[in-house]
This record gives sequence, structure tokens and C-alpha cells, in this order.
Amino acid sequence: MAKFEATENRTFKNIYICMKCTAKNRSATGMPGKCRKCGAKKFRVKSKKVKKA
Ligand SMILES: [Zn+2]
Repeated sequence: MAKFEATENRTFKNIYICMKCTAKNRSATGMPGKCRKCGAKKFRVKSKKVKKA
């Protein structure tokens, strides 16, 4: 079970979705400069549910 969480964390932590073409952009740290596909500079994080009960 813990394995699941770890995998999810690692997978989605550094992935940003382009707001324009929704392409996945990977970045080691912080936001990517621009989308590798369309060049847009607006991104959102892949997983935005960091809620803790
Ligand atoms: Zn894009």
C-alpha cells in the first residue's frame, strides 16, 4: 500500500501539464521554461490533491 503512494509521488511530482495543449512536461525542479510541444509557458501540476485529512 505504501508502495502505491511512493510510486504516485514520484510519478507526478515533477510533471507539469501545459494549459494550452495539455502536454506533459517533465521538470526536475520547478516549472519547465516552456511547453516542449507548443511552447506555451502556462502550466499546472499534474496532481493537485495534496489534501490531508
Ligand atoms: Zn503545450
